Amino acid sequence: MPTNNPSQESAGLLTRSETESRERDYLAVWATCSGDSLGRLYPEAEHSYRTAFQRDRDRLIHSTAFRRLEYKTQVFVNHEGDYFRTRLTHTLEVVQIARSLGRMLRTNEDLVEAMALAHDLGHTPFGHAVEGELAELLVNHGGFEHNAQGLRCVDLLEAPYMAYPGLNLTHEVRLIFTKHYSLADLMKMGFANPLSTKLSECQHSPIVEAQVVDLSDGIAYNSHDVDDGIKSGLLSPEGLCEVPLWRSIWQNIDYADQSVQRRAAIRALINRQITDAAETSLKILQTTMPCATDTKQAKDYPCLEQQPRLVSFSPEMQTLNQQLKDYLHLNLYSHPLVQRKMHKAKEMIRKLFAYYSESPDQMAPQFALRAKTAPVERVVSDYIAGMTDRFAEEEYVSIFFPDSARTSFH
Ligand code: MG
Repeated sequence: MPTNNPSQESAGLLTRSETESRERDYLAVWATCSGDSLGRLYPEAEHSYRTAFQRDRDRLIHSTAFRRLEYKTQVFVNHEGDYFRTRLTHTLEVVQIARSLGRMLRTNEDLVEAMALAHDLGHTPFGHAVEGELAELLVNHGGFEHNAQGLRCVDLLEAPYMAYPGLNLTHEVRLIFTKHYSLADLMKMGFANPLSTKLSECQHSPIVEAQVVDLSDGIAYNSHDVDDGIKSGLLSPEGLCEVPLWRSIWQNIDYADQSVQRRAAIRALINRQITDAAETSLKILQTTMPCATDTKQAKDYPCLEQQPRLVSFSPEMQTLNQQLKDYLHLNLYSHPLVQRKMHKAKEMIRKLFAYYSESPDQMAPQFALRAKTAPVERVVSDYIAGMTDRFAEEEYVSIFFPDSARTSFH
């Protein structure tokens, strides 16, 4: 039986500075060491035992926006069945996949974990359909996009401290929200804390951990949407065999129990994608970095979409992955039953938006108060985006059908 190193047994508590120096020993040259963090918008003393990214992970888990993910739709409306993914279980699956991939690539697992926990905080109730609806409603008022809204949550809307707004996360973790817009653009659009100026132009190379999380997000939802799609009966394993990636997996697994077979196939689907991403990305990183670190950009840090792809699938897997995505769009996300619920959700959100814009006092007190000094459309959008599916539905019924017994949404 192996025994622990005696020098470790006699050692004291693991300190932050010890963890920071361990990171420098075992992380790759392309990883972001916590000791090199550019810091927070509002300076804070470092913790004795936890690194900056470990503290951010803890702040995110304890945030209000994180808890609400439990009652927000991923694809299926939250109360359709206890066994479908919600935005929370999706987030946890992204965390798990991103940590595996991030660890294999010797990146900073704590940073990866914090980013993955944060990546969907700005999502509206009822998923992408309502996000699109809010974007239309705000087209002349600064727009709406869930990644941008995530930054607004952690920078401005969460309120656990007296001294400043937001969670005061490190600059690095906040960059997970720069998927479509750079930090400088998000500042101009009003989604970032205005103090971000001092960090938006810092010199740094692409943060590999953000790309790990971004790719893992896609691996997670493709795989779990196949799983939920089959369980719901809207997709069938046999129908999915049109998709070459699925066919190559499904036809090589043969169990008498179809539920066990489905689970084995989903496991294989995730494993194939992670392994391909890890092997491909390592080759890219080894040939690209540390050259990228030598040519640090002094100007605005580009959004994730515009960065060179350092964490990526092989060209073959990109094709296989796109075929699966296309199939899911056509057969699951556009399925009449899913669409019907999304139509109802959009109508509900449109009406709630108009109602609160007319009567801001009907929002929760802190939002009603803010609407006296800030543009009402933005405050209403913050209020609605923060709602869970069930709260939005309860508000809708109580405002527009006050005399009816609470009716189920679906
Ligand atoms: Mg996601």
